[in-house]
Amino acid sequence: MATLGNPKETIEILNKYRFVFQKKFGQNFLIDTHVLEKIIKAAEITKDDLVLEIGPGIGTLTQYLCEAAREVVAVEIDKKLIPILEDTLSEYSNVSVINEDILKVDLNALVQEKNQGRPVKIVANLPYYITTPIIMGLFEALVPVDNITVMVQKEVAERMQSGPGSKDYGALSLAVQYYAKPYIAANVPPNCFMPRPNVGSAVIRLTLHENKPVVIKDEKLLFKLIRASFNQRRKTLQNGLYNGTEINLTKEVIAEAIKALGVSPTIRGEALTLEQFARLSDILYDKIH
Ligand code: SAM
Repeated sequence: MATLGNPKETIEILNKYRFVFQKKFGQNFLIDTHVLEKIIKAAEITKDDLVLEIGPGIGTLTQYLCEAAREVVAVEIDKKLIPILEDTLSEYSNVSVINEDILKVDLNALVQEKNQGRPVKIVANLPYYITTPIIMGLFEALVPVDNITVMVQKEVAERMQSGPGSKDYGALSLAVQYYAKPYIAANVPPNCFMPRPNVGSAVIRLTLHENKPVVIKDEKLLFKLIRASFNQRRKTLQNGLYNGTEINLTKEVIAEAIKALGVSPTIRGEALTLEQFARLSDILYDKIH
C-alpha cells in the first residue's frame, strides 16, 4: 500500500534521514494523493508494463507505480536519496533503483535488458531544469516508448501542445508533435509539492506516433529550418532562414522555396504548420542536392 503522498508522512521521512533539499536537482516532492492518482490514470499503466521513472525522490510516485505496473525501474541522481528509497520501497519486489544521471544512462540498452526491447512507459515528476533535454533525448535516441507522462512547468506543457497562431507555438511544439501526440491531463498548483515551486505545473502525456505525421527526406534539415525560423521570432520566415547560422542558403533560393510552398513572401515562421515546414524542407532539400 502506498503510504507517502501526504505532508505528514513526507515530513516524517525527511526528518528521519535529515534530508536537505538540493535546489540544483530540482527537488519538489509531491504531497497530494489526487495528483498522484491522476498521473497513474493518465499514463494508462497496466500489469504488463515496465515503467521507467525519472527522479523518484523519496519514492512517492514510485509506490503508486509499483502498485500499478509489472515492474518499475527508477533512475535517481542524488545518492542521499538511495537509502531513503530502500526504506520507502522495501515492501515492493518489483522495483529497482539506479543511482545515475538520467542524461548519462543508455536507455536503449536498459529497455533491451529489462523489457527485451519492447516499448516501455515513462512516468516522472521531472526536475524542471532538464525537461527539454530529457524529452528530446528520449525521442532522438529512438528509445522504444509507448507514452511519456510527466509533470512539467505549466508553460512548457502549453508550448508542447500548441499550434500555429498561438503565442506559445515554437520549436518545442513542432519537435514534440513530430514524435508524439500531446494531451494535458491536469494542471497542478504549487501547494501540491514540498517545497513549493515558484511556477504552476501540469501533467502532460505524450503518446508516441506509430507513423510520423509527415514523411520527409532529411530530418536534420527540417529541425535546422524550424530552429532558424523561431530563433528570430519577429522576423519573416525568409529573413529568419537567411540569417540562420546552421543553414547556408542564398536569399534567392529561400525566396523561390517559399514561393513554391505557395505562401506569402512576408509570412512568419510562427504561421507555418508542421506539414508546411516538412514541405519546405523537402523543397530546399531538392534545391541543395
Ligand atoms: N518523483 C518525486 C516526487 O514526485 O515526489 C520527486 C520529483 S522531483 C521534482 C525531481 C527528482 O529528480 C528529484 O528526486 C531529483 O533528485 C531527481 N533528479 C534531478 N536531476 C536528475 C537527473 N539528471 N537524473 C536523475 N534524477 C534526477
